[in-house]
Amino acid sequence: MSDIIHLLPDSVANQIAAGEVIQRPASVLKELVENSIDAGADFIQILIKDAGRTLIQITDNGKGMSETDARMSFERHATSKIQSAEDLFALRTMGFRGEALASIAAVAQVELRTRREDDELGTLIEIAGTRVFRQEAVQCNKGTTFQIRNLFFNVPARRRFLKSDNVEKSHLLNEFYRIALVNPEIEFSFFDGDDEIFHLPASNHKIRIESIFGKSQKKKIQQQLLTIETSTNLISIHGYVGKPEFAQKNANQYFFVNGRYMRHPYFHKAVMMAYGQMIQPTENPNYFIYFEVDPQTIDINIHPTKTEIKFENEQAIWSIISATVKEALGKFNIIPSIDFDQEGAIDIPAGTVDPAKIKPPVSSFNPNYNPFNSSSYKRPSFDWEKLYGSFESSKQGGEKNVFGDKPELNDPDIAVTPFDSGISDTEPVQQTIETDDQRSANFQLKNRYIITSVKSGMMMIDQHRAHVRILFEEFLREIEQQHAPSQQVLFPEELELSHDDALYFEQIIQNLNSVGFEFFRSETNIYQIKGVPSSCNSGSVIELLHALIEKKRNTAIETTTAIHEQIALTLAENSALKNGQGLTQEEMADLIDRLFACSDSNHTPDGKTIITIFSIEEIQAKFR
Ligand code: ADP
Ligand code: MG
Repeated sequence: MSDIIHLLPDSVANQIAAGEVIQRPASVLKELVENSIDAGADFIQILIKDAGRTLIQITDNGKGMSETDARMSFERHATSKIQSAEDLFALRTMGFRGEALASIAAVAQVELRTRREDDELGTLIEIAGTRVFRQEAVQCNKGTTFQIRNLFFNVPARRRFLKSDNVEKSHLLNEFYRIALVNPEIEFSFFDGDDEIFHLPASNHKIRIESIFGKSQKKKIQQQLLTIETSTNLISIHGYVGKPEFAQKNANQYFFVNGRYMRHPYFHKAVMMAYGQMIQPTENPNYFIYFEVDPQTIDINIHPTKTEIKFENEQAIWSIISATVKEALGKFNIIPSIDFDQEGAIDIPAGTVDPAKIKPPVSSFNPNYNPFNSSSYKRPSFDWEKLYGSFESSKQGGEKNVFGDKPELNDPDIAVTPFDSGISDTEPVQQTIETDDQRSANFQLKNRYIITSVKSGMMMIDQHRAHVRILFEEFLREIEQQHAPSQQVLFPEELELSHDDALYFEQIIQNLNSVGFEFFRSETNIYQIKGVPSSCNSGSVIELLHALIEKKRNTAIETTTAIHEQIALTLAENSALKNGQGLTQEEMADLIDRLFACSDSNHTPDGKTIITIFSIEEIQAKFR
């Protein structure tokens, strides 16, 4: 038998090695922009086409390369940044492995133009799949431009692993944020095709945060942030943490060390501990925390694409972080609550205050808004009482209880007849269909629950949840039938989105159109809201849209039905009448009618109970 081990050809070995460093377009962006930073650039332009699949172009005004260096830069383990192993422990550059360009050239078509300030001519190199096709002198600007075309053109398996454009774009943006947030002194411009989606002038950390994330927030992000700052001989920390009340499900949480983004689950816990009870367990605060440490005390050499970094003194740093964040939160919380003037002061009885200055409590009731007059709603042509009636008559045949979870209704001695005037609880099972004027026995408790008498006892309906269920089914129908009454807006509001949010928004825009929204994209990431669904409570459309985007972001669901349901539910939750809203008898009756015309009257689409029944037995027991 002959020997079977042989060395792989360079091209194959390089492709394999490249897989370690370059996994997707975002990895190319990261490596090239980091190189530009290491080259001392103060302006970096990024251009992507088709989410980086066809082109990623990075231009910088850094120090450029000589002709020989330009050629050398594509060799594996070729770097200008370290000389020996010791240098690894004093790293001040982003790169040091000398692998990135070699890896990129192994899996893409690369064109490099570069010129040093003092050179008259620059160098042009074309290289693809590690083969150099062209190298010549060219006229070009000082600095370096890399064009990376057709990533993975020679590795079809990898190309197939790329996700949708939107997913790849959000990876690209995440890498961009991580770099831009920690290099505010560098000016960045980011083009997606012909759209300049970011232009970030040189500034400071706080302004940089604002210019990246400001747009997607309802309140200016600067007003949401508290400054933290501390300096010990182990570490200096500065940065910003979000006020607890702005915590949200999806927060922007960033740690940086010595100018480099890092993930650090252990330090993350330190921050979260500092918030303690101030935020709900499901909420997350924003934070942007920058550490400076002696490079000798950290190890970043774990893995080329990993962002975890090891610290020598993790426990000590943990305590410093926790204390620093606590202090910032404490200052913020205490200041407004210390009010020395109030100490020991006598309570002024309300009567001595000018009554004109006391605002009567207001409920958010809009007298013109009648949720029951939704133009799209038609009173069902059947009476739900009848449905109940037939249920009644068939029940003795052992049929399933409509209120599946209410065993008392299965008692054959107790007739379930909603809107029974409540006179008798012992009548034999019979259909009791009342006329409209007979059913006046609805009562609203705390402007929140509708109480009505049924044969088995007392039914309570959560009015908000009931309306959510009703509207959900209406909206869903409209989405699926692709048409819904739209109401034109006289003075269109503007929805201004972060680029990230805009990506999610674009994915649901068509569904939104089918429920009656109309948008006009006036600028990149800015949409005018020209029309809203006529059954939508238009007061808070912007908030509603943000909620929808948030939902889209949080739920991995991709099936059309699931997306439709999400949209219908969010719209329904937003437009449903609120608890606290007074209802007339007619409105209550109408709500009940519509509720029982729904496919499931007992639960909201997200599983909350709408109806509960207190049986006569339960009630009687209370009077014993
Ligand atoms: P590393 O960054 O780890 O050194 P790379 O493969 O990313 O490895 O780059 C190799 C070398 O090419 C760098 O060390 C640097 O000398 C040079 N280089 C790469 N990009 C640039 C650039 N934009 N401007 C100047 N020099 C660059
Ligand atoms: Mg590099």
